[in-house]
Formats: sequence, C-alpha cells, structure tokens
Amino acid sequence: MKRLILATRNAGKITELHAILADAGLDLDLVGADAYPDIPDVKETGVTFAENALLKAHALARATGHPAVADDSGLCVDVLGGAPGIFSARWSGTHGDDEANLNLLLAQLGDIDTPHRGAWFACAAALALPDGTERVVEGRLNGTLRHTPSGTHGFGYDPILQPEDETRTCAELTPAEKNAISHRGKAFRALVPVVRELVG
Ligand code: IMP
Repeated sequence: MKRLILATRNAGKITELHAILADAGLDLDLVGADAYPDIPDVKETGVTFAENALLKAHALARATGHPAVADDSGLCVDVLGGAPGIFSARWSGTHGDDEANLNLLLAQLGDIDTPHRGAWFACAAALALPDGTERVVEGRLNGTLRHTPSGTHGFGYDPILQPEDETRTCAELTPAEKNAISHRGKAFRALVPVVRELVG
C-alpha cells in the first residue's frame, strides 16, 4: 500500500483526512508527522496559507521520500482586511493560546455591529511529491462573528464564528456537522482527485 504523510501531529486532522480518503475509495497508508520524530518541524515563513502549506508538504516529502500533504488555516475578518489570517494561532503574541487570541479579537471588534462582522475560516491543503511536484487547493467557511463566545466543541475561534445559514456557532455544532461544512473538510475533499492523480 502506498504511503502518504500528513504534515501534522494533530490526531483530529489525521482522522478527518483518513475518513475523506477512505470515502473516496483511496486505500493509502496514511501516517502523521509523529511517525518521523527525527524530522524537525518546518518554519512557517510564507505569507499566505498556500505558501505555508506548500513549505510543510515539500519539507516532509523531501525528508521522507514519500508524498506528503500539509494544510494551513486561519480566521480572516472582513473589517480587519483579512487578519488575523496566517497569524491566527499567535494573534495575542503567544502561539496556540486560543483563549487569549479569541479575547483579543473580540476586544478589537468591540465597536463593530453585526452587519459588519463578516469573517471566514480559510484552509489551504497542499500535496508535494519527493520529486518537487506540487499542488495546492483551498476551502472556505463563511460566517459572522458573534459578540460573545458560545459552545464547547472545537478549538480556536470556533465559539465566535457562526457559519452562514446557521443559528449556532462552530463550537455548538457536533464534530461531524462541522467537518461537513468546514474550510478544512472542503480543502481536503478538493485534494482527493489530486491525490488520486498523483499518488494513486
Ligand atoms: P492550523 O492551521 O490548524 O495551525 O490553525 C491555525 C489557527 O487558525 C488555529 O490556531 C486557530 O486559531 C485558527 N483556526 C484554524 N482552523 C480553525 C477552526 O476550524 N476553528 C477554529 N479556529 C481555527
């Protein structure tokens, strides 16, 4: 069975991509970056989601000799010109402090009324082969930012993003409901034909 590496240590993302590839009838040995503990994490020096996803996918494909998939995602706010964007995970200054990131964003948007609180989650998913071949696709989840957090599922900015055509926030959706409409789910599903073409 052909091996495909997913450039993440996040078990949730591995499970999600696994399910999407299996649904598409692709039988691949999907492993996460944890299977290669000696390979260091790559610095995300790109200035777009696509660049960062490609950087991670190329680094892992080169280092392992196997095709690799990587994703990069974040929250983009209309009134902030697309920020936090690629800085979503470290908006408050501390990488991965979801609560501080969310609270800072809410404070920044304190005076902004609901009609102007449009935002979207964006995800770029990249596939790289050891020979340097690359493809990148993108997915979006459009919505509106609430004034106060609501819900306990998910992570990051989920408690304040209410998807369009929904009355609940992402953190009030079940994981299956969120995966069905999420930016990451859309990007991973868009990657399926690319994986079929280039990996088999
Ligand atoms: P990563 O690409 O998974 O590392 O995500 C970067 C950051 O974007 C996360 O730390 C979150 O702050 C935010 N983010 C990305 N996707 C989501 C999501 O589905 N829900 C909530 N926040 C997200």
